[in-house]
Amino acid sequence: MTRFLNVIDGEFVAGSGDAFANHFPTTGEVIGEVSAAGRADVDAAVGAARAALKGPWGRMSVPERVALLRKVADGINARFDEFLAAEIRDTGKPRSIASHIDIPRGAANFNVFADQILTASTETFEMATPDGRGALNYALRTPRGVIAVVCPWNLPLLLMTWKVAPALACGNTVVVKPSEETPATATLLGEVMNAVGIPRGVYNVVHGTGPGAAGEFLTSHPDVDGITFTGETRTGEAIMRAAAHGVRPVSLELGGKNAGIVFDDADLDATLEGLGRACFANTGQVCLGTERLYVQRGIFERVAAGLAEKARGYRFGDPFDDATTMGPVISAEHRAKVLSYYDRARAAGATILAGGGVPEVGGHGAGYWVEPTVWTGLAQDAAVVRDEIFGPCTHIMPFDTEEEALALANDTPYGLATSIWTTDLARAHRVSKAIEVGIAWVNCWFLRDLRTPFGGSKASGIGREGGIHSLEFYTELRNVCIKL
Ligand code: NAD
Repeated sequence: MTRFLNVIDGEFVAGSGDAFANHFPTTGEVIGEVSAAGRADVDAAVGAARAALKGPWGRMSVPERVALLRKVADGINARFDEFLAAEIRDTGKPRSIASHIDIPRGAANFNVFADQILTASTETFEMATPDGRGALNYALRTPRGVIAVVCPWNLPLLLMTWKVAPALACGNTVVVKPSEETPATATLLGEVMNAVGIPRGVYNVVHGTGPGAAGEFLTSHPDVDGITFTGETRTGEAIMRAAAHGVRPVSLELGGKNAGIVFDDADLDATLEGLGRACFANTGQVCLGTERLYVQRGIFERVAAGLAEKARGYRFGDPFDDATTMGPVISAEHRAKVLSYYDRARAAGATILAGGGVPEVGGHGAGYWVEPTVWTGLAQDAAVVRDEIFGPCTHIMPFDTEEEALALANDTPYGLATSIWTTDLARAHRVSKAIEVGIAWVNCWFLRDLRTPFGGSKASGIGREGGIHSLEFYTELRNVCIKL
């Protein structure tokens, strides 16, 4: 059984909190024990991160930091199979996904932000002064300090490094609080950090849950200078309240109830291929996933039937078997939540085109399985159409006009992402402009250029990360005004 320890000042240490079990979602069996950090451990981690700002890390030039970040990427790749196995055992996700997305992109984040910091510029303004000699303004990019990084469980390494890499590139130090469901890759990364020579205290990890535990201890810690969080909107609100003390900045990547809009001129094969992934990839546990689909009436039946066929085409099983295409959801608790929505859909009179229950999975019966599910026939105000379920399910509703589709898609407190399927370029532009989201995809989904702004509007978040936008959050700009 693996024991997951906290990483504090370069050491792997047991925490003073209550240890808890780590489960393999595929079978439900206990595969590890997580050593939870108590308040004193979080204090020690934040203290180590603060001290490291004044040590060799704080004195490094940008090229020196960049060289180390590239070594971190290489270090992950050198231990690719270990990271892959750790991620699979934490999440139950199939190797086919984790080996193509989670681990390679987790490593790539360090190279992407190494490139970014090398090429980032700041603005300069030359100004006139009454004496005719003028003045020159330029902005200096300085690290914010100690950054708290609080992460979810759905793409553990990828989403954690998406924040850790730019934070370190900018010269900060970090204390990471991985999800209690997925402690493994954050801990393993501590070994890589030590091995490649990242100075002690720069990368710290504290384990535990949120309220009254490591998450809250960290985000309410007065010596943390900024908080970056990905997770549920409700948690984001709690973190924002914690950050208000001491006026600390937050970057919040939160929940969604993302719509897909399919117009009758769409390329149907490509649309169904894209929507199949948007609705069911990673067992629907992708913040950008589609749980509401609006389809123009003329092609409604064909899209609904096509998507139901995609839903029925998945193969459950051992995630280490390359033939497996869908894993379980993360936990028994999350499965209960997803299935409660399956019940509500049935009770509300939904037509179930595919799924709707729990699949038979030979040899893995105690795992947290749910069927990919497609419904039609519910009203826009049904809980299944309004709430983020975070499971492999979608509801499809017909529409007649572009205005109607936009009104339905925008009728949500969330505003993370949408996908628009049409071959009419002018319409694609119009709808992208009118849709209230941070990310609008046209004829694609989850196509990510990491230099672009990433984040949500409305209740889906505050701020943008990615490219220069990450650097804006992880640095403090200081204007220098020189009188000439
Ligand atoms: P969650 O909010 O339950 O937990 C996320 C993290 O916050 C965990 O590490 C948890 O321990 C911690 N936490 C919980 N309560 C806390 C508190 N009071 N103070 C400090 N920390 C606390 O989210 P989850 O269930 O792990 O992840 C799923 C959610 O994440 C979904 O809502 C999904 O949409 C969202 N998500 C958003 C994005 C995005 O980029 N917008 C990406 C992935 C996931």
